[in-house]
Amino acid sequence: MDLHWHRRDLRATDNRALSDTGRALPVFVLDDAILAHASPPRVAFMLDALDSLRSWYRERGGDLLVVRGDPAEELPRVARSCGADRVVWNRDYSGLAADRDAAVRDALDDAGVDHASANDAIFHPPGSITTNQGNHYSVFSYFWKKWRDRDKPAPYDAPEAGDVVDPRDAFDDPGVLTSSTDSGSLPSLADLGFDRPEADLPPAGHEVAVDLLEEFCADDVYRYADDRDYPAREGTSRLSPHLKFGTVGIRRVWAATDAAHADASDESERDSVVAFQRQLAWREFYAHVLDARPDVVTENYREYEHDVAWRDDEAELQAWKDGETGYPIVDAGMRQLRAEGWVNNRVRMIVASFFTKDLLLDWREGYDWYRRKLVDHDTANDVGGWQWAASTGTDAQPYFRIFNPATQCERHDPDGEYVRTYVPELRDVPPAKIHAWPTLDDAEREALAPDYPHPIVDHAERRERALATFEAARGDG
Ligand SMILES: Cc1cc2nc3c(=O)[nH]c(=O)nc-3n(C[C@H](O)[C@H](O)[C@H](O)COP(=O)(O)OP(=O)(O)OC[C@H]3O[C@@H](n4cnc5c(N)ncnc54)[C@H](O)[C@@H]3O)c2cc1C
Repeated sequence: MDLHWHRRDLRATDNRALSDTGRALPVFVLDDAILAHASPPRVAFMLDALDSLRSWYRERGGDLLVVRGDPAEELPRVARSCGADRVVWNRDYSGLAADRDAAVRDALDDAGVDHASANDAIFHPPGSITTNQGNHYSVFSYFWKKWRDRDKPAPYDAPEAGDVVDPRDAFDDPGVLTSSTDSGSLPSLADLGFDRPEADLPPAGHEVAVDLLEEFCADDVYRYADDRDYPAREGTSRLSPHLKFGTVGIRRVWAATDAAHADASDESERDSVVAFQRQLAWREFYAHVLDARPDVVTENYREYEHDVAWRDDEAELQAWKDGETGYPIVDAGMRQLRAEGWVNNRVRMIVASFFTKDLLLDWREGYDWYRRKLVDHDTANDVGGWQWAASTGTDAQPYFRIFNPATQCERHDPDGEYVRTYVPELRDVPPAKIHAWPTLDDAEREALAPDYPHPIVDHAERRERALATFEAARGDG
């Protein structure tokens, strides 16, 4: 019997390490060192996913063992108490996890317990797609060409009911289950020291994820290439928290998109499916970057000749966080973030650009707010997105191409529907006035929506200042 250590793979189906084992006892460790970096939305989603995973095991005569503590202490202890042959897990490529895994491997070696790990979270692990010089790619289009041409394995089967071990049968000494190990109840958010999240979160669990995937692949995927840039159309998969916590396997996602590709009725539908598959490759691209450059969490991926002179401005930072900047699409995005813990990709780009260029605030502060508020926060993708917007990352937006938030609003929310959903003060304002809001005169703004703020900055002026700041950082002029 193996002990399967669930981490960012909160599912039993299409789970590589689990399917590679025979009989397995599943365990999850609530690791205080990891929880110290977590935030209410993610912990709430994770607990919901754990509850769903535990039900899956219970319906098959088993249970999920939930342990709180340091995995390097708990796993050898549990493995020895139940006489497990090995501890197995799926690899996680983020910096914190890599250190934790090394400590667990050492502790298991010291305890004389075998262990094995598998590549599961992404198709092609770091180091498997490299430049001719053997480095990670810093340009996505080259990575994508190689990534898409590689074979993608089919989903792995879930364990048979007979292979699911009941913890009550595994331990000679049931006392082990009542000390620091508890298979009876999951802790609450408060038990773990977290407040209730501000956002109204989506439900977690494998079934929810598969429903989302199937619904998306039956219809929206065929218009994805167009709709993804129009937040009001809600045409993206919403799979990000599920991919983050592994409530769905990547092979399952790929198989569904492949089937959609085969069923597409024309070239444009096929292209749209490929546009979605390309986003899955971005996720792997950023995982490779983080693995190769773990310092990108705090340092620029690309340094300029001189430091970029980011500003400190508490009032502007707070207005951005509160969705009170007077730039309607920025405010809609920031309020959606607080309300739902999720934001459309185009809008994430717009608010991050406003933050790093119009406000000239340090991308690390914006990243930190996203980290606290996003239910799908994923270090690799989040840092990748922020550094892209800040013109410091791989494949980044060139510093001189600065989004105009009013034009972006007009282009990507032509009817003002997205803005009106999240900014009720503008509910009765016609779309043309929403788009022009930052350049209307004060009297007109007050007449149209007295409760909505005037713009906190002048985009044209801020654009010039950002250009000058980046040119100084480059050492130009
Ligand atoms: C500043 C900024 C911060 C971001 N932070 C995160 C984050 O913390 N976690 C996160 O998962 N994504 C992040 N993204 C990427 C992207 O915005 C989200 O993945 C996407 O909006 C999630 O919605 P969806 O599942 O409906 O995506 P879909 O469009 O349906 O895409 C499917 C999946 O592909 C992956 N994906 C899509 N776009 C990207 C991308 N640009 N980069 C990497 N992976 C992508 C995600 O796993 C996503 O679930 C960020 C983007 C920006 C610009």
